[in-house]
Amino acid sequence: MKRKILFFGLLGVLFFFSAHHLKGQMAPDENMYKVRTVVIDAGHGGKDPGAVSGGVLEKDIALSIALKTGAYIQENLPDVKVIYTRKDDNFVELHRRAGIANEAQADLFISIHCNANRSSKPYGTETYVMGLHKSQANLEVAKKENAAILLEEDYESEYEGYDPNLPENTIIFSLFQNAHLNQSLVMASMVEDQFRERVKRHDRGVKQAGFLVLYRTTMPGVLIETGFLTNPAERKFLNTEQGQAYIASAIYRAFKNYKEIQEEENNRVSDAFAEVVAENINIEDSETIQEVVEEILTPPAAEIYFSIQFLSSKHEKSLDAVEFRGISDLRMYQHMGLYKYTSGEFATFEQAQQHRNNVIAKGFKDAFVVAFRNGERIKTSEARAMTGR
Ligand SMILES: [Zn+2]
Repeated sequence: MKRKILFFGLLGVLFFFSAHHLKGQMAPDENMYKVRTVVIDAGHGGKDPGAVSGGVLEKDIALSIALKTGAYIQENLPDVKVIYTRKDDNFVELHRRAGIANEAQADLFISIHCNANRSSKPYGTETYVMGLHKSQANLEVAKKENAAILLEEDYESEYEGYDPNLPENTIIFSLFQNAHLNQSLVMASMVEDQFRERVKRHDRGVKQAGFLVLYRTTMPGVLIETGFLTNPAERKFLNTEQGQAYIASAIYRAFKNYKEIQEEENNRVSDAFAEVVAENINIEDSETIQEVVEEILTPPAAEIYFSIQFLSSKHEKSLDAVEFRGISDLRMYQHMGLYKYTSGEFATFEQAQQHRNNVIAKGFKDAFVVAFRNGERIKTSEARAMTGR
């Protein structure tokens, strides 16, 4: 129910921004937004090997995937400038990585890593955006990646006393990237989609945690954990040329989709949409984030459904009233000055008809089929014509 209210609220916002946008179209689009520069950041390097398992070093896998991803982008999207934070086995400070992206005024920052766990069981991909971690596991990943600063010469002054082992620090730092959260979420969601759909990886979802390298950047950014080196099968996959090529092509495709969406004429609409979603939804877990992003990216179709109306009343009744006991999926709406009570939500008239018998059996002999479009009561005949049923 809560989701429904939110959805219709968003619909209103969408129409508002669409109308707004149409007016704006009169003017030539000289400041059309383009994704021109991407920074690809191979995690770790040099004296920092990152995760090490079964003789495989995270820094090597990350570099190989990063270079391949950049090559795909350069090959297929020649209008995009690709900048690497490292192209060989070098140690680069986290703040320097962010600095490279900021100086280039990049439009997107992609950091590539491999995951590790004490157990050899976990496997799959995770894509992070900067934010408050919602679970201890997310925090552990951020702490592991942030720990690279301990190898930096001057980290105490550089990060102003930041101690990666203190969760409070992560929370404070996580508040800074909020301006780009929506775009980062869109990119992260596309990366996980590509991993799942095209490379058949186990998608562990889009997550949030406080990564220093993302916090320091001033553009949308994601940190991709391409798989667990501690899982033998995944390690083997990531350690092959082919596995790395698959992962890189998935990241490239996600980037291509991201670029297209950001540059779409109505991108301001989806941005506004995303912003409202981010403000209204307390992002609890990866599923929610992905649902939210899918909602943003899917144009809202007219939602038509049938229901069984069994009572109308001049006075509002509590949905917990004794007389409603046993009625499934009970809802109330106001129509023509009356409070009307319905049960169920069905895609077809026939399904609703069948449910009508259940409601009649509960003592509401006058129950009949009604239809709704986007929450508004419409004629049943109209709905049947529109649904073709
Ligand atoms: Zn890493």
